[in-house]
Amino acid sequence: MRKVLYPGTFDPVTNGHIDIIKRAMELFDGVVVTVAINPSKTPLFTVEERVQMIRDSLTGFNNITVDSFDGLVVEHAHQVGAIGIIRGLRAVSDFEYEFQMALMNRKLAGDLTTVFLMPHEKYTYLNSSIIRNLAELKSDVSEFVPQVVLQKLKEKFSQ
Ligand code: ADP
Repeated sequence: MRKVLYPGTFDPVTNGHIDIIKRAMELFDGVVVTVAINPSKTPLFTVEERVQMIRDSLTGFNNITVDSFDGLVVEHAHQVGAIGIIRGLRAVSDFEYEFQMALMNRKLAGDLTTVFLMPHEKYTYLNSSIIRNLAELKSDVSEFVPQVVLQKLKEKFSQ
């Protein structure tokens, strides 16, 4: 079983992330989407909320699991039995950081290969922080996020 790990902050998951997950599911037997607990970031959604939103956005697929982790990506990849790490590449601006991370992860765990996938062009300018900002300003983000995320954003910003 060729399984891959897709780590990220997913605060919240967007249609760009979903696009990458679906492409990964076509290429591999299993995808583990994992919400990284990053102490240096102050997320809008809790880890549990982020995990649940990803699960609810991908019902009906049986080769995906969603979890969270606190620590090194490569260690978690080994724990779940992944052969590689998926990352999304939107634009050249992503490249430098992603390149650095991929090389560092390869140094830490030479048995893991990082695979970069590109989303549909319509998602290349999309990121979670833009979505949070737009939603806070009550702008319509329905074409950028799954329905369940739209609902949660509305709840968050109506409080
Ligand atoms: P991180 O803090 O790890 O970058 P993100 O949730 O922002 O967490 O992103 C996780 C991964 O998904 C990264 O590889 C990022 O490049 C990718 N990604 C984010 N937004 C998109 C998008 N709109 N289309 C494709 N990939 C994306």
